[in-house]
Amino acid sequence: MAQLNFKTLSFNLQNDSLQVTLLNLFSASVPLAEVEEIASFTLVDPHKLQFNHPDQKKAETKFSFLLAKYFEQLKNKLTGNSATYIHRNSGIPLIGNVAFGIAYRESSIIEIKPVTSCNLDCIYCSISEGLSSKKHDFVVEKDYLLEELQILINFVDEPVEIHIGVQGEPFLYEDMFKLISDLQQMEKVQAISIDTNGTLLNKEKIDLLAKNSKLQLNLSLDAIDPEKAKQMAGVKNYNVEHLKSIISYASQKLTVIAAPVLTDSYNNDELEKIIIWVKTLPKQPILGIQNFLKYKPGRNPAKEIPWKKFYALLKELEQKHQIKLKLDKTDFSIKETRELPKPFEEGDIVTAVIKCPDRFKNSVVAAAKDRTISVPDCQYVKDKKIKIKIMRDKHNIFTGRLV
Ligand code: SF4
Repeated sequence: MAQLNFKTLSFNLQNDSLQVTLLNLFSASVPLAEVEEIASFTLVDPHKLQFNHPDQKKAETKFSFLLAKYFEQLKNKLTGNSATYIHRNSGIPLIGNVAFGIAYRESSIIEIKPVTSCNLDCIYCSISEGLSSKKHDFVVEKDYLLEELQILINFVDEPVEIHIGVQGEPFLYEDMFKLISDLQQMEKVQAISIDTNGTLLNKEKIDLLAKNSKLQLNLSLDAIDPEKAKQMAGVKNYNVEHLKSIISYASQKLTVIAAPVLTDSYNNDELEKIIIWVKTLPKQPILGIQNFLKYKPGRNPAKEIPWKKFYALLKELEQKHQIKLKLDKTDFSIKETRELPKPFEEGDIVTAVIKCPDRFKNSVVAAAKDRTISVPDCQYVKDKKIKIKIMRDKHNIFTGRLV
């Protein structure tokens, strides 16, 4: 008998297929006939398969092969979008892409991105993420991410802040609590910050998070009026009262920044309401009002407010309500750090291997020299070798075009 245990996978049987769920959010379907080709099997519990096979190693290898084959059709359960699981045997490096892995911009704040996908659909979303997204998604194995991060931190050799700033809602990542507590244990990590819409949190989860003394939560709050808040979040079931209770509770346990995005002609009147509400709390969170900015991949529903006007508004509100609103560099301890060598530069011609689709249609992620390169206008053919001219190399985030 061979017993196969999986922490991040769960299984259930459905007609003629074995449904595999990865980290609660992604799923793939493996034909039962192909699983039974390994040997007859039973589902002992949702995380455990038992094969009537005499050789443990062989059963494991055969089943891994099947998973790899059908994970090519991995889907996000929330949106139905296609997805790629990036793990230590996937051959996909974690530096190079802006949507997943690690982004190091020669500063003491290192960004990590274990997942893409969001349960809201905010009208101002700068990356058009959310329930209406049609983009390809990524999910990264926690331990692979941590191992690669440790290598980078050793290279930086200074205290760093880890910012979990995903293209989406980070608490959709089932391993997020473990990831944060592992980061908390890392010696050179002096702070951890996370941007979240807060909808998936509750008091018990906040209590768990509060065990991590290095953690700061940046929570979205765009309106106090329930209907306006729904309009901003782009979903009908958005409950701003829940968000308010989360901000109020979390502020008593952790450092919290409440971060409204001022989106002209949508929530201008809500800013004062937010300030007045924040001032009633037993422990006041920091208010980090952001100015809506237009981005090419964003939803862009409004005009940008000129910075001069935006800062004048903050000043007026600061004086009226006796509250600090204008945050500057001194509020965040950002330091310049060592430059990470680039294995190739803008203009170089590189041979790379296609590994998976990229975020947008007809674009791929290729790998070369421990980096990924985003290649638009390229058809996905797994493991195909291509020649690319590097068009962007800033901060070791690479884009190339086929030559
Ligand atoms: S919560 Fe963030 S990622 Fe999600 S739709 Fe809103 S702005 Fe975009």
